[in-house]
Amino acid sequence: MYEGAIQDLIDELGRLPGVGPKSAQRIAFHVLSADPADVNRLAGALRKVKELVRFCTTCYNVAESEQCRICRDPRRTNEVLCVVEEPKDVVAIERTGEFRGRYHVLGGAINPLEGIGPDNLRIRELLIRLGDGTVRELILATDPNTEGEATATYLALMVKPMGISVTRLASGLPVGGDLEYADEITLGRAFEGRRAV
Ligand SMILES: [Zn+2]
Repeated sequence: MYEGAIQDLIDELGRLPGVGPKSAQRIAFHVLSADPADVNRLAGALRKVKELVRFCTTCYNVAESEQCRICRDPRRTNEVLCVVEEPKDVVAIERTGEFRGRYHVLGGAINPLEGIGPDNLRIRELLIRLGDGTVRELILATDPNTEGEATATYLALMVKPMGISVTRLASGLPVGGDLEYADEITLGRAFEGRRAV
């Protein structure tokens, strides 16, 4: 459509999740007319996220050092571990202020249609973590949709024989949705009302 650099930018933006061709074009022209200082800040933030951010070696949350902020916090209990799909779910649960344990980020959910099985998620790492006997309760906070439920069911089967209490967030979360879209109060209540599986 356009020549050179502006089309390159539209193409790159169009590859981002949730950005359609029209939005890509709108953002590209916004960048073109924006203050150079603002554009440099954006470019710097894009570069820095790749340079500085990595995954916590314990829980696989995003981190800027070996371990994430939550794993480094000595005031949190090691006895309760909450399993989530993505780092954004950690943020959603932290916002409720209901949870003082640790997390384990799977990196997705079981989804046979997309070829994602247990081996593609950090389930082996979870089982190794549980192996030392410190964790007494495992909270399955995967998304309330088909893939999240399948993942929770699979994990419950794997973990219950280890003698660890396994719980699932209470209903009340919008079914079919994403954990991150639940408001703090609903998610907080779902946490409080979690039940054994
Ligand atoms: Zn961590």
